[in-house]
Amino acid sequence: MSASFRNTRYRQAHQGVATPAGGIATFSSPEVARPGAPTATLTPARLPIGPLLPVVGGNLAAPLAGGRTARAVNLDYAASAPALQAVADHVAEVLPYYASVHRGAGYASQVSTALYESARQTVGAFVGARPGDLTIFTRNTTDALNLLAHAVPADGEVIVLDAEHHANLLPWTSRPHRLIPTAGTIADTVAALEAALAERPAALVTVTGCSNVTGEILPIAEIARIAHAHGARIAVDGAQLVPHRKVDIAALDVDYLAFSGHKIYAPFGSGVLIGRSDWLDAAPPHQAGGGAVRSVNAEGQADWTTGVARHEGGTPNVVGAAALAAACRAIAELPEDAIEEHEAALSARLLEGLTQIPGVRVLRAWSDSTDRVGVVGFTIEGHEAARVAVYLSAEHGVGVRDGKFCAHPLLNRLGVTGGALRASLGLGSRSEDVERLVHAVRTLVTDGEKLDYELIDGAWAPVNDDRPAPSWSTWGATNPVDKGSECGF
Ligand code: PMP
Repeated sequence: MSASFRNTRYRQAHQGVATPAGGIATFSSPEVARPGAPTATLTPARLPIGPLLPVVGGNLAAPLAGGRTARAVNLDYAASAPALQAVADHVAEVLPYYASVHRGAGYASQVSTALYESARQTVGAFVGARPGDLTIFTRNTTDALNLLAHAVPADGEVIVLDAEHHANLLPWTSRPHRLIPTAGTIADTVAALEAALAERPAALVTVTGCSNVTGEILPIAEIARIAHAHGARIAVDGAQLVPHRKVDIAALDVDYLAFSGHKIYAPFGSGVLIGRSDWLDAAPPHQAGGGAVRSVNAEGQADWTTGVARHEGGTPNVVGAAALAAACRAIAELPEDAIEEHEAALSARLLEGLTQIPGVRVLRAWSDSTDRVGVVGFTIEGHEAARVAVYLSAEHGVGVRDGKFCAHPLLNRLGVTGGALRASLGLGSRSEDVERLVHAVRTLVTDGEKLDYELIDGAWAPVNDDRPAPSWSTWGATNPVDKGSECGF
């Protein structure tokens, strides 16, 4: 990325930051470089870094316990990323045309059908789908991998790493599979996969492109080569990789790829499974129902169709598909390496800041990993992760994730039994976000919490939490929020 681009993009991003919907106060970042503002005193390494693209809610105000407010710092992109402004704009543009797809003869139906099918082309092309590959819209990555799990030939074994997110672990355990323990290095982990394939043939190797716990990236092209050399196919859980890196399944020789719209700035309920058609055309339909059949006889026996429709029974999520395509377009328009460079600069500051704080341990699954995205799992000695996450929100307006990130086997292997924290970055992240988190963690370790906290129904909350919620939200009434199962997301 050229410096001139970076500066232009930087200014555009700051001038274009979205204003949240009416009634919610917003903040401007104190470190945003404004025309004419003095920057000469800043060393180049410490120049402020702004968002790479504007996101909706990027200037949202978060109430702090005790009556103050601060710009909400969202460091939880790995769980769900905010909508890109371009995505929200596209959704607003297409909504007036929203109507039933595929069967409707009306004008809006025809336009919606074309929108849905062109979204499919856009999303497939974004990740290098080959002619003949199917691009099937799903609800999310979990849905996509469950679909694939039912499509692998019944007698074929699937090889899975135990470092996977539960979404790429549990769909496989109810069918023939081998769970391979992850080694301490990537080299040994790849060797273990190869040894497993050499020992006995398998139908499929399924791996994550990038760990949702540590942000470390696996060598997908190498694993694909090894899998194919042993007659197996490869599926990649791209939930954490695709939002951060250019993924080209043709170039990587990957057979199947799954990812989620809500992690790639399109939180409108769509995900995708892309890949080879033969297993998918022979598989039981993912959702039996309308749209998946050519015909049904008087006895209710279906003649199932093939292609994407076989697995998209029921009314499709046109808006979700259009949003996902809009996100792909916006990302594809960025100069090559722009995302990588933006995140690398922010990650470097985050890692430098966190590792200088006594007691902070940054999690790492593989001692030889060299490539990582802006996802940083960490623990703080003597501090319970769940309580720290609540402290960060209540006292500093910082949102991070805590828990075991739906990767229990990996967390257990890393010796993190009580849960960890995870800060994750993306297109809307700025250096001020990183600095706020680092400052808050350092303050916790050196000075402790300012507020008192109590456990309510097993979840931490500030005593007498007085933070207001929007009028339409029940949050204030139900504090603390029900966090679902311990696995979380
Ligand atoms: N795989 C990975 C690596 C993830 O991080 C996640 C979500 N945290 C998933 C799969 C599941 O994604 P979704 O919840 O969108 O189905």
